[in-house]
Amino acid sequence: MTPDERAIRLNELAQGLRSLDDETRWFERQDPAVRRAILAELAFYAWQARAAEQDRDAAIRRAGIKPGDTAAVLLRAGVPHVQLRKICALPDYQQVPAFRLLAALFGVADDRRRAQCAGQCTHPWHQLSSRRGPA
Ligand SMILES: [Zn+2]
Repeated sequence: MTPDERAIRLNELAQGLRSLDDETRWFERQDPAVRRAILAELAFYAWQARAAEQDRDAAIRRAGIKPGDTAAVLLRAGVPHVQLRKICALPDYQQVPAFRLLAALFGVADDRRRAQCAGQCTHPWHQLSSRRGPA
């Protein structure tokens, strides 16, 4: 998978064009180094989409993880842009809840961003659904 293909895939996931459960299985099949790179990419996108403290509860609900999962505890412990780095650095066995949470946080922030864009923007990642047709 090229970096561009992966970027499209992760944006489709954020926009609900792919299911989080399917993509979690895809994530689990990747090598540990690739999983780290995917987490870092999602954290970057969430930051770029201006994920904020107001997004934390919705992200944890959308992720379907337990409030006591370390990724969720970390996200609540401070401002997202600081906590994202700590979530990316979680040990291998905590990478799946980290993936689900970062994908959900990116999705929640991007929902707001897309509402602001209102179809008038030139962000390539906001033109995916028109390119693909209905999911
Ligand atoms: Zn846009």
